Amino acid sequence: MKIARFFAYLTVLIVLFLFLPGASPQKAYTSSNIRTISVCLLNDKESPVNESIFRKILVSVSREYEKNAGIRFKAGTVAVFSGNTGILPVNYERYLKYVCRLTDEVRIIFTSESMEFPRPDGKTEELVAHTDEDTAVIIMYNVGNYARALDWGGNPFLETVLKHEIAHLFGVDHTEDKNSFMYPQANLSLGRWTSEAERVIKINKIREWIK
Ligand SMILES: [Zn+2]
Repeated sequence: MKIARFFAYLTVLIVLFLFLPGASPQKAYTSSNIRTISVCLLNDKESPVNESIFRKILVSVSREYEKNAGIRFKAGTVAVFSGNTGILPVNYERYLKYVCRLTDEVRIIFTSESMEFPRPDGKTEELVAHTDEDTAVIIMYNVGNYARALDWGGNPFLETVLKHEIAHLFGVDHTEDKNSFMYPQANLSLGRWTSEAERVIKINKIREWIK
C-alpha cells in the first residue's frame, strides 16, 4: 500500500515536470549577440523637423528591434541634409557620404516636406517614406505632421513606418497581412511583429551596406 502511494506521487511529479512552463529557451538577447548599428540622423535643411521627435522615434524603434531581433540602433552623427528629398534616390556620394561618419551604417533623413507620387489611375498618393536598400538611406516625409498620428493598432505612426523601412534594409518583403508592419502601407497596419519578419531579419542580421 505504501509503495502504491509512492508510485502515485511519483507519477504526479513526473507529469508536473513534463508540463512545467519555461523549459524552452528564453528569447532574450545578451550583449554578446546584440548587433549595435550607428545611425546618421539627418535633418532636412529646407523643411527641418524638431530633433526631439526623431530622437524619440529612434529610441522606441531600437527597443523593439533589440527585443525581437537582437539589433540596437544608436544615434551617431546628427547633421543637416542639404540635398533634395524630392529627387530619388538621394545622391549619396554628394550629400551623405562625407556628412555622416564612416562608423554610421544607416542614414535616416527627416523632412517636414510631403511627397506625392502619381498612381497608375492618374490620382496621386502620398509617400510616407522611401528606402534605398543598397546605401541604407531612409527618408521619412512629413514628419512634423505625423508626429502625433497613430497606426491602426494605436502605435505611433512614425515608429511603425520606421520599423517597416528598417526591415526592408534586412531584406523583409511586403505582406498582405494587415497585422504586420510589413503591410505595404505600414501606417494602415496594426504595426505588429510577425514570426516571418523576425525570421528574415535574423538571417540577414550581419548584413552590411555601402559605405
Ligand atoms: Zn515597404
